[in-house]
Amino acid sequence: MVFPPKIPVPKLPPLQAAATEGGGGAAAGFTMPGYSLPAYSPADDAGESTSGTKDSLTDKTKYWAINIWQGALLVMSINNQIYTTIVNGNTEDTINFPSLPQGIMVGKNSYVVKRLQPALTRPGINLTATQQSVFVGIIFTDRVAFPYPVPWVQPKLNAGAEVPLINQSTGVPLPLTVPRGYKATLLEYQWQLDQDSEHWIYIDGALALCPGISTAGQAVYVADIVPISTALIDPLALLPHTINWIVKNRGLNPMSGAATVVLILEAVGTPPFPSTKEARCPQCGTITTVPVHTNNITCKSCGFKYVVFDGAAFRRTT
Ligand SMILES: [Zn+2]
Repeated sequence: MVFPPKIPVPKLPPLQAAATEGGGGAAAGFTMPGYSLPAYSPADDAGESTSGTKDSLTDKTKYWAINIWQGALLVMSINNQIYTTIVNGNTEDTINFPSLPQGIMVGKNSYVVKRLQPALTRPGINLTATQQSVFVGIIFTDRVAFPYPVPWVQPKLNAGAEVPLINQSTGVPLPLTVPRGYKATLLEYQWQLDQDSEHWIYIDGALALCPGISTAGQAVYVADIVPISTALIDPLALLPHTINWIVKNRGLNPMSGAATVVLILEAVGTPPFPSTKEARCPQCGTITTVPVHTNNITCKSCGFKYVVFDGAAFRRTT
């Protein structure tokens, strides 16, 4: 790896990630249709190393996904010199890279990391260390018997009835609780149902939005350019919030079909994301606490085996 020549640099302010919201495309960690790429692309993450070696940088305040920075650009300010390299890989709190020049060691330095974006040929998302995806949805069908081990597969919805969507990482019906220190942004949603349907979004228990009222069989897909977010009402995430999505059958017959919603949860000045989640048994409703990356769960009360998504593992489209 080629390091630039040693260029004396005036006293540097601490390097910081430009945590801007929206408008900047890559700044928010995901790229969506309708966004132009910024001329200046901010860092994906930044900080002060707590220790290091000639080929590693440790920041004990981080909780990175393993190898999320592989291939990324790492810029370090060491003794008023700037060193630039490409990351080999990373653990939760340590980035590894080819050795620095003889005698140069990482200590307590400021640094930034920036993914080198390959040309995207389609819209996608690219989550930063502080973001996590949440999938919620429901399938109405009479193809299987109930209770069914996939919690969001549900019986046909009767005419006039309404239900909330289901968190696919836990099997727990909405409302989704967004804790203090986090914000939730609705990224995209889609549904196709064989009866006329209504869709209603409640924030903190109050009816806030109507994403759509559709006719039987209509396929709806929306990727918001200006996403719906709890940041619109609480940009600093000073309070917890709830988000609910209700689907109602306003047709004459039991309804088949599916609805899926993708949200992004983002930490706002908060250590990212708990290591456990609370999953709900589709047979008896018992809540079981499991590691966040768990897919297969056996109910501790009734022994029913069921599966959930690992939404926390999803980082980017490729
Ligand atoms: Zn159970």
